[in-house]
Amino acid sequence: MVSMPAGTIGRMRPESSPPQRPWDPALEELARAIVRGGGAAALTGAGISVASGIPDFRSPRGLWSRFDPMEYATIEAFRADPEKVWRFLRELERIVRGARPNAAHRALAALEEQGWLEGIATQNVDGLHQAAGSRRVIELHGSGRALVCLGCGRRYPAAERAGLGDPPRCRCGRILKPDAVLFGEMLPLGAYERALALVRGVPVLLVIGTSAAVYPVAELPREARAAGALVCEFNLEPTELTGGVAQLTIRGPADRTLPALLEAVARRSRGS
Ligand SMILES: [Zn+2]
Repeated sequence: MVSMPAGTIGRMRPESSPPQRPWDPALEELARAIVRGGGAAALTGAGISVASGIPDFRSPRGLWSRFDPMEYATIEAFRADPEKVWRFLRELERIVRGARPNAAHRALAALEEQGWLEGIATQNVDGLHQAAGSRRVIELHGSGRALVCLGCGRRYPAAERAGLGDPPRCRCGRILKPDAVLFGEMLPLGAYERALALVRGVPVLLVIGTSAAVYPVAELPREARAAGALVCEFNLEPTELTGGVAQLTIRGPADRTLPALLEAVARRSRGS
């Protein structure tokens, strides 16, 4: 244990300081860039929802530890044996149903509300950004809020799920697929283009809880940087972006680092 040198008491931080480290130079630099530049956009992935009880699919407790994605989460697998793929989808539904937005989702919603965030492009299908109050959300991988028929194209709101059977079936008889993107499927029409326009039009891009390793989403941080944005990564672990495309890195769980950013932006915007 380190003994406290004399005179430290007077410099102790007040109760209202951010929950992160008392002064993180990267966080301060990022807040300054957001306030000076007039805004930011966010690209989010699984890491932002971990504190909501949705383990990252790739983590040891994640769904991929029990369901081989190549066997359970490709469009080919769904076409070949939708009943089998629904064993995985049911588990995903169960996990997402119990999840609530965490402090990271709420911090992004507050940044949008205060005029600092232009929008969010997310790889998540859990709907937690919207549940937290974010309004401009681009769902790159679709969502679980609708079911679609690959046969006749009919769509059903997820609210009707209970009345459609298990696995849910279309009126035409085919088993329905959630509107979330499976491996090997195209992204929802126009979603990538809208995300590209979003990240190219902002002075700052926050890349949160994603390794940005899956194409074409992996291109977004690169495109933002090429268009002149400051790219800042929020992650627990180093990724391919670290020290390359990302000029700033904030380490730590997003439900602590994003509220700290919100406070830093508030301090800066008050001119302190
Ligand atoms: Zn149908």
